[in-house]
Amino acid sequence: MVKAPENSPESIRFRESWDAKKPATVYKTPERLPDGTPCTAATVILRTKGCEWWWKSGCTFCGYFNDVRDDVTSDDLHAQWEEAKKRTNNFEECSMVKVYTSGTFFEDKENPPDWQETVLKETYENGLHLVIEAQAHLCKEEKIRWVAERHPGCTVAIGLEAYDDAVLRFNCNKGFNTKQWHQAVDILRENGLRVKSYLLFKPPFMSEGDAVEQTSSWIRAVAPLSDEISINPMNIQKKTIVDRIHRARQYRPPWLWSLVEMIKNVHEDVRPVSAENATDGCRIIVHPTAAGMIRGSHNCGECDQEVAAAIERYSVSADIREFDGIDCYCKEIWENEIRLDRSLPLPLGIGRDRRVSMDKVLRAP
Ligand code: SF4
Ligand SMILES: [Zn+2]
Repeated sequence: MVKAPENSPESIRFRESWDAKKPATVYKTPERLPDGTPCTAATVILRTKGCEWWWKSGCTFCGYFNDVRDDVTSDDLHAQWEEAKKRTNNFEECSMVKVYTSGTFFEDKENPPDWQETVLKETYENGLHLVIEAQAHLCKEEKIRWVAERHPGCTVAIGLEAYDDAVLRFNCNKGFNTKQWHQAVDILRENGLRVKSYLLFKPPFMSEGDAVEQTSSWIRAVAPLSDEISINPMNIQKKTIVDRIHRARQYRPPWLWSLVEMIKNVHEDVRPVSAENATDGCRIIVHPTAAGMIRGSHNCGECDQEVAAAIERYSVSADIREFDGIDCYCKEIWENEIRLDRSLPLPLGIGRDRRVSMDKVLRAP
């Protein structure tokens, strides 16, 4: 797999123009605690050294490198953490904090252990539920025990993306496999931590028809082992490999209809629980970032907001009736595309963006 194509001198200059003492973003959103209680959550996205895997190779769709630089120190991270507290008035009215580091929170080469300890302990002492992210193969026994001692019961979100080793390797270039994910889940559970799994809807080099079918089967496999599944429909982040093939008109972000179809496929089998009853089973959260935009999941442009809103409502209510009565002329076009994807021997599918003249494809950057 080629190295992510964004290490040009301009990209590096742009990346390193950030102030390493200020977090990338801090904001508050309505959320649910693990027991289903509504709460306010603060999300803190830090500027770190970034994911070790990205420096070596990197996932085909990941644009997190835009917020990383390789000279961030422990002092910088402590300063960013203080700034996040200042901006939220010491997490006033928040019961949950999501700390995102563009990689694995508890990986020592990515983030200094003393800073990890500050975050784990401070959030625990202040009664804040903590959500952190990790790659599966970095959830090692000794380290997870260390995390659980400092913040018992926190949530570890793993970007599994696909429950299929070939897709992980060739479509995502993920850097770990499903066996390593299973091991990670066991270790997290043994240490009393919560497991959140991210799945990616329609990785690059996959047709729309395959995405509907495969993601549905991944959800069925992953749900029994997860407290929460978050399905992220592909949105194109700048200067990634998927951005390149999108600009070459060889990839179309998913249809919103495909997400509805996937939800209908799995609803009966998986029986996801609503946000209110979160402790009784697995929640399925589908959040189409940039819905309706050309770089996010989209339909025809007319029905996008209505369909995206129903998907968001379903993520909270787990009530399939959210989709009753929603229709549009473009549904037929989508159905036709799926039908052709399933019957023609075209692994990349027939998605509309590919139906352009060859001279345009060749001229695309
Ligand atoms: S493991 Fe996560 S942070 Fe690292 S390159 Fe992949 S998606 Fe990006
Ligand atoms: Zn439409």
